[in-house]
Amino acid sequence: MRKIEMVDLKSQYLRLKPQMDAAMQAVIDSTAFVKGPKVAEFQKNLEEYLGVRNVIAVGNGTEAIQIALMALGLKPGDEVITPTFTFIATAEVVALLGLTPVVVDVDKDTFCMSIDAVKKAITPKTKAIVPVNLFGQNANLEEIVKLADENGLYVVEDACQSMGSEYIFKDGRRVKSGTVGKIGCTSFFPSKNLGCYGDGGALFTDDDELAAKIRSIANHGMTVRYHHDMIGVNSRLDALQAAVLDVKLPHLDSFIEARRKAAAYYTKAFEQCGWIKTPVCADYTTHAFHQYTMVLADDIDRDGLQAYLKERNVPSMVYYPIPLHMQKAYQDPRYKEGDFPVAEHLSKHVLSLPMHTELDEEQLSYICDSVLSYNKK
Ligand SMILES: *Cc1c(COP(=O)(O)O)cnc(C)c1O
Repeated sequence: MRKIEMVDLKSQYLRLKPQMDAAMQAVIDSTAFVKGPKVAEFQKNLEEYLGVRNVIAVGNGTEAIQIALMALGLKPGDEVITPTFTFIATAEVVALLGLTPVVVDVDKDTFCMSIDAVKKAITPKTKAIVPVNLFGQNANLEEIVKLADENGLYVVEDACQSMGSEYIFKDGRRVKSGTVGKIGCTSFFPSKNLGCYGDGGALFTDDDELAAKIRSIANHGMTVRYHHDMIGVNSRLDALQAAVLDVKLPHLDSFIEARRKAAAYYTKAFEQCGWIKTPVCADYTTHAFHQYTMVLADDIDRDGLQAYLKERNVPSMVYYPIPLHMQKAYQDPRYKEGDFPVAEHLSKHVLSLPMHTELDEEQLSYICDSVLSYNKK
């Protein structure tokens, strides 16, 4: 059996090696390392895939969210609502810009922000909602956009984990994740659904005027060279990464299909097991399975299970062990332990299994047997 990795980037590279090596060599031969035709080509191809008017490639997913909030003209003191159960980047940039993060609890089944909680968190100071499409499925975006429209707020989707999944509106219309809100943000970190060989990210928007502003902010606030109209940042996807992504993009749907097949295998194996809650996919979204995250019964010793799996060479990870409102750097008199019971419960009981495009049946069967043999109740 091949070694089981949490994310097997090597096997995927070997499968794509001839095209990948050629594409990277072509960039090196061109010496157009920053900006240039390769980045433009990839942006255009991704626009086509997503069905969105503008893709603006930037340095990473964290900067994508930061640039989105800057482009919307948010000012210090403005409140931005984000879920407390997420990767830190979402709230980090809110805090860095001097905006006020307002955190809300999540839904126990989807792990994405709870609509009721968002309703209660809106104040006259609220300017934006940043839903996180966590683990590969979309938050309840139609309801979130409706709430935002009723209250004059922007929606910035954190689609760093949901690239390639689809949102399904009540009328049956389907659109790609990251294209429902005013701006969508994604990450091309190597382990993401569409990952490059370093850091990368992008913003999506159908608003051309906003797109022009985003392009300018990502490039030192410049539209005409050396004329700086606003304060910006330096955030660019380099051409080598664009070349890698352009080789992978045509395979994205098959990558997601491979993730779904692995997820279905896990779910079938654990269906009858009384101490594992398998992922729940809401009816308004498809699931891209960036992560396969199960919730263990309260009496299962998660550390013990992880150690047991490790002995059997099965990696596992806890995404995420500490909710935002309990992180040291984000201590805030407005929040205390106990305020967000669902997120706090999840942080103690979730466990993610290996998930990538190269898992074969032998590995999946071994992983499932290992998990199930831990607790034979
Ligand atoms: C990965 C990730 C980010 C940040 O992306 P980077 O490219 O690593 O900066 C932000 N939000 C979520 C939910 C992520 O998973």
